[in-house]
Amino acid sequence: MSKLFTWVLLMAALAGIATGCVPSFSNTPAPTPANPLDSAWDDRAPFRAGLIPAEQGVLGQLPGATVYHIDLQIPNDFQVLQGREEVHYTNREDVALDKVYLRLFANTAGGKSAVSALQVDGQDVEPAYEFQDSALRVPLSPALPPGESTIITMDFAVTVPREMGGNYGLFGYFDDVLVLDEFYPVIPVYDGEGWNVETPPPNADVPYFDASLYLVRVTAPAELIVVASGIEVGRANQGDTQEVTFAIGPARGFYIAASAKYTVVSQKVGETTINSYAIQGREDGAKAALQYAAGAVKSFSTRFGTYPYTEFDVVSTPMQALGMEYPGIVAITSDEYDLNGNVRGVPARIMMEGTVAHEVGHQWFYNVVGNDQLDEPWLDEALAQYVTGLYYRDTGGEPAYQGYRGSWYDRWDRVNSKAIPIGLPARAYTGQEYGAIVYGRGPIFVETLAKQMGDSFDPFLRDYYQSNQWNIGTTATFKQLAEQHCQCDLAPLFKEWVYER
Ligand SMILES: [Zn+2]
Repeated sequence: MSKLFTWVLLMAALAGIATGCVPSFSNTPAPTPANPLDSAWDDRAPFRAGLIPAEQGVLGQLPGATVYHIDLQIPNDFQVLQGREEVHYTNREDVALDKVYLRLFANTAGGKSAVSALQVDGQDVEPAYEFQDSALRVPLSPALPPGESTIITMDFAVTVPREMGGNYGLFGYFDDVLVLDEFYPVIPVYDGEGWNVETPPPNADVPYFDASLYLVRVTAPAELIVVASGIEVGRANQGDTQEVTFAIGPARGFYIAASAKYTVVSQKVGETTINSYAIQGREDGAKAALQYAAGAVKSFSTRFGTYPYTEFDVVSTPMQALGMEYPGIVAITSDEYDLNGNVRGVPARIMMEGTVAHEVGHQWFYNVVGNDQLDEPWLDEALAQYVTGLYYRDTGGEPAYQGYRGSWYDRWDRVNSKAIPIGLPARAYTGQEYGAIVYGRGPIFVETLAKQMGDSFDPFLRDYYQSNQWNIGTTATFKQLAEQHCQCDLAPLFKEWVYER
């Protein structure tokens, strides 16, 4: 164990095990099961209950947000998912679009995804698979003018891998848990560089999506506990199958984890119910994750703005990463739920606290405020690392902050503390550099920026969050806003730390 973790270990021991947990009740009444495919495109009602009252107004402010209606079948053997998807897409760019892309990430994550019966506004179209089949080019003819909408419909089939392979093992069926990262055809962001459709690099998180609305019905074996982004808005059980409908939006994606072996503990923080799921026998791990998640939601809600949804799920899944963020839900490696064990040489409980706080931080920096996770990964990762430090300060005081801060220097040490810029695209780093620079040197930069800005830093970071809600932040807008707050020139600092020299 590293000395740097001693303080944190002490704080964790003092904090003790989660108390105040209550068994989970079905907190949503079960109305008539909605078939998303029958819903009206402009019906925002299903999304209201998933947002806290103060956030519900946003539903009237995103008229052109993409709407996904998905009907998904999970078979008993978990081999091949079948789905029907209908998408309402509005061209919010200032140029006519002669094509739109659908990402099929299963094809670069060890599985296989194929689309059939593709139609645009009811007309058959012939798509083309590109970028190692991770992108499907859908022609729009005539081109879609700015402000106009189109409806894209399709069937899709996805083969689920059983071997943990591509993209950190976030997609597949492993150890009795089905994990469905980016399983459905999804439209990437169109921005200054056009459609964001590069082949996913091995290191990075792949999602870069606009805030959208998702209504998803899942038909699955009845014994499965299905955990997903958003809230349950409909349920029907028939014999040995269940139909559960979920709604979330605005959100940058939709994630499902499911297992017949999940157990759950829950707690309310403000207007949000936090549910923590673990495999039976790991209830202590579920309680610890719940405690850390609740502390992080409180800390970040106070600092940046209240967590927007009425539900937040933390779920234990097998994976090769430590954790992964999704809208309204985070997945944490099941290795951390054996509280007596070690993960990468660190006691599991300590590793879990940092992992959970980091992934919770992404709800603010990645989901509510989006960014290009491939071209500017520092913007959400270095911020998630930095705000994890703030969580430690809020829950354990300065010693806890200092203890966690040491882990940034440990990471940066892995490349001998070389001054590699933090603001490069994910593909520009080697695997070792990516972790060391974006997750190590990155938060050290944010801390350095905070020191230079002094009292103007906290209001700046809050403003960055508030003024970019449900939009995309960039390094340029981040720097500009910071300079506006400090009334100072930050160009030398950004040159030293962020930009390529
Ligand atoms: Zn992260």
